[in-house]
Amino acid sequence: MNKRIRVTSIFYSIQGEGQHVGVPSLFIRLHGCNLKCSFCDDNLHRGDYTERTFDEIYDSISKYECKRVVITGGEPSLYNLNPFIKYLKKRAYYVCVESNGYSFANIQEADWITYSPKEWYEIEEYGYDELKFIVGRDTDIEKIVSFETDKPIYIQPMNHFDKPDMQSVKRCVDLVLQYPHLRLSVQLHKFLGLK
Ligand code: SF4
Repeated sequence: MNKRIRVTSIFYSIQGEGQHVGVPSLFIRLHGCNLKCSFCDDNLHRGDYTERTFDEIYDSISKYECKRVVITGGEPSLYNLNPFIKYLKKRAYYVCVESNGYSFANIQEADWITYSPKEWYEIEEYGYDELKFIVGRDTDIEKIVSFETDKPIYIQPMNHFDKPDMQSVKRCVDLVLQYPHLRLSVQLHKFLGLK
């Protein structure tokens, strides 16, 4: 991999999802995705991007005290990110990556991998630290509730781009109450009006 990465945005916010909810994090959003989900809440990943070197990205994030990075997309594992992840870890960052499971090999150096499969007929059993399913008002949940893993399974409402969808939130709340091995991930940042 050449040492340039297609970045659509870098921003500092609060992690609103999954096990690390509430943790201040530096988000690096990458360009492109192998899927075209109808509910995709970030078409930004299909828009403009700049090719940035590792050092240029480091220049952008090192002005913050925060030492936690979340690489998201789009689909980060379209690219072999292991050299970049190692580069960040050498500089004392804890590196999380969010992925739809396209290639866990391309992100295997990460400290934490969130796997959010979108094609549920084929759910990977290994290669990640937490599992996140997006559930909307009409989503078929049979496969989710029967899936077995020792990793935490989060149910996350299919929210609007910039705010919660309370019908989906309610459905997810009901779901975790009915199936207590599941956990709720509400996208806290959307309740707080954060990026
Ligand atoms: S996998 Fe994620 S980023 Fe890609 S199209 Fe689906 S929702 Fe959007």
